[in-house]
Amino acid sequence: MEFRFIWVQTGGHYTPTRCKPRERVAILIPFRNRNNHLRILLNNLHPILYRQQLEYSIYVLKQADEKPFNRGKLFNIGYLEAKKDNHTCFVFHDVDLIPENDHILYGCVRSPMHLSRAVNTFNYKLPYKELLGGVAAWKTREFEQVNGWSNLFVNWGGEDDDLSYRTIANKLSIFRFRNSVARYTMLEHRRTPVNTARHRQLQDSYTRYKIDGLSSLVYESPRIQRYHLFTMVSINT
Ligand code: UDP
Ligand code: MN
Repeated sequence: MEFRFIWVQTGGHYTPTRCKPRERVAILIPFRNRNNHLRILLNNLHPILYRQQLEYSIYVLKQADEKPFNRGKLFNIGYLEAKKDNHTCFVFHDVDLIPENDHILYGCVRSPMHLSRAVNTFNYKLPYKELLGGVAAWKTREFEQVNGWSNLFVNWGGEDDDLSYRTIANKLSIFRFRNSVARYTMLEHRRTPVNTARHRQLQDSYTRYKIDGLSSLVYESPRIQRYHLFTMVSINT
């Protein structure tokens, strides 16, 4: 047991003791080969979540195989695993986005709520209004209504736009905090290989969502390891 973060219980979990939380928040972080980023994110996130007096758990969704990275599928599997622990609010969180502001509420007051609206690498401006990438919070109801993420996008790009199209197809609004609040710093990393099929794949997003997502997910039970600051879910995609 480390002496830092003494309030955090095994598995990266915290329950406030002086108030009754409205929600149980699961933070889901897709991960492979970004150890430094993960350390920095955890060091920043735990204190913020504690100060917000949320009941929360942090899950690191590690892609254990060497196949092309599949962020959407990791999120779907992580969602179903976290749901077993009775969470009600799910925050899909890139490992390299560090919140700059305590007022970015990591809950589901609205759903879907796009949290990473103002990122330094985009000069703290939302690049386009449908953007749902980076960090976003969803309640069970809306997330299952859109059938979760697509399982079909691998490598870089497309899966977050596909999710936007799912929200539009279901006539859901994307909510955000003010630009001055929802600020993040993106840690530096190399560009991952681009998904060259993404434009073609995005052409049928509006209809494909019904048959591609949580409903079509086939996966082997992931290995679950509970460390002090997070629960590691090791996934073969
Ligand atoms: N990711 C990862 N390892 C990889 C590729 C992606 O852990 O090799 C995760 C990580 O959480 C990252 C997210 O997927 O923040 C999105 O990928 P990336 O940061 O490369 O996308 P970009 O910021 O360029 O859109
Ligand atoms: Mn990134």
